[in-house]
Amino acid sequence: MPLTRRDFAKLGALGLAARLAPELMAQPAERQIGYAIVGLGRIAEHFMAATRSTTNSKVTALVSGHRDKALRIAAQYGVPESSVYNYENFDSIASNKAVDAVYVALPNSMHAEYTIRAAKAGKHVLCEKPMATSVADCEQMIAACKSAGVKLMIAYRCHYEPIHLKAVSLIRSGALGQVEAIESSFGFPIDPGEWRLDKKLAGGGPLMDVGIYCLNATRYLTGEEPESFAAFSSVIDRDGRFAQVEENLTWTTKFPSGIVASCNTTYGSLLLGYFKVHGSKGSIECSPAFNYDGVRLHGEFDDAVIDETSTAKDPYQFQNEAEHFSQCIQNGLEPKTPGEEGLRDIKYIAEIYRAAGVSA
Ligand code: NAD
Repeated sequence: MPLTRRDFAKLGALGLAARLAPELMAQPAERQIGYAIVGLGRIAEHFMAATRSTTNSKVTALVSGHRDKALRIAAQYGVPESSVYNYENFDSIASNKAVDAVYVALPNSMHAEYTIRAAKAGKHVLCEKPMATSVADCEQMIAACKSAGVKLMIAYRCHYEPIHLKAVSLIRSGALGQVEAIESSFGFPIDPGEWRLDKKLAGGGPLMDVGIYCLNATRYLTGEEPESFAAFSSVIDRDGRFAQVEENLTWTTKFPSGIVASCNTTYGSLLLGYFKVHGSKGSIECSPAFNYDGVRLHGEFDDAVIDETSTAKDPYQFQNEAEHFSQCIQNGLEPKTPGEEGLRDIKYIAEIYRAAGVSA
């Protein structure tokens, strides 16, 4: 009887894996996980390209409101015309056996609807960040995936980025001594006309879009959950772009251990994403931290200095992310960044907006 990797993991726990290893090695690779890509915008391009570098993931269907564009991309990825859907007939994807999972790469407020529809169609869901635009939507997404028995992962690519993982392990190893304070920022000047400026689609401004990287980083770097927030927001450029969402937002967080974090996000200027972690025995700085490649970590400790730049090329973070989710599906494992992780950030974002006096 052929063994699956899942069987092998179970055998490993019983100490039998080593004896059976040659048999596993001789088996053909498991079937690749097929992804339906919903929304063929900028981020979907990176994700689709990344699947080509994986051994366990491939694009098998496309969902778009622009059929010409979808057919062009379908030809590039070998997707048959019969697996090109639109937003109206998306639910019929349920009967497409080549689709195991749906990757939701739509504007933020549409994540909930398409995650729930995908779950009802019996498909696993990899949903872009931010998970949704309200706590209630996140809870419904989690409930829908649970009741359909499908997995839900939020596409927090930095959790799959080796330099970020190194920063976390340096902190946990005690190399920095007691962590005292963190700083993190991320922003960019936004063009007029972007859906990101429409509150109904975006749910909020730069905090929802890029500030979320800083918020999430302060949580995985500390390994703690925020206790309280203070925040300010402002609009400086009165050029019409910020009629619905904030332009600038700055917040400070206190963690239970006493670590304090201060973060900034903006749609008004280029604010290269970075984080700095200050400890009693040393400090690290990751800058750029949130780019697609060239992520750099510099650390100075009592008796050592480190400097490391990722040489991996975009779309490696997306590749690691896709491989992880596909492995979770193949082996029945929980993703490292499940829906509950996305929900926590959306709860904190709501608290930050409240602290800044921004109405939801
Ligand atoms: P985009 O504007 O490039 O693409 C959005 C896609 O949604 C387009 O294909 C568009 O046609 C489609 N769409 C369907 N209905 C729409 C509507 N009513 N209005 C506008 N577009 C509509 O956006 P993007 O930058 O690819 O962002 C998509 C999602 O991915 C967002 O949730 C964003 O936060 C997330 N994102 C994640 C990362 C990351 O690094 N993980 C980076 C960028 C964006």
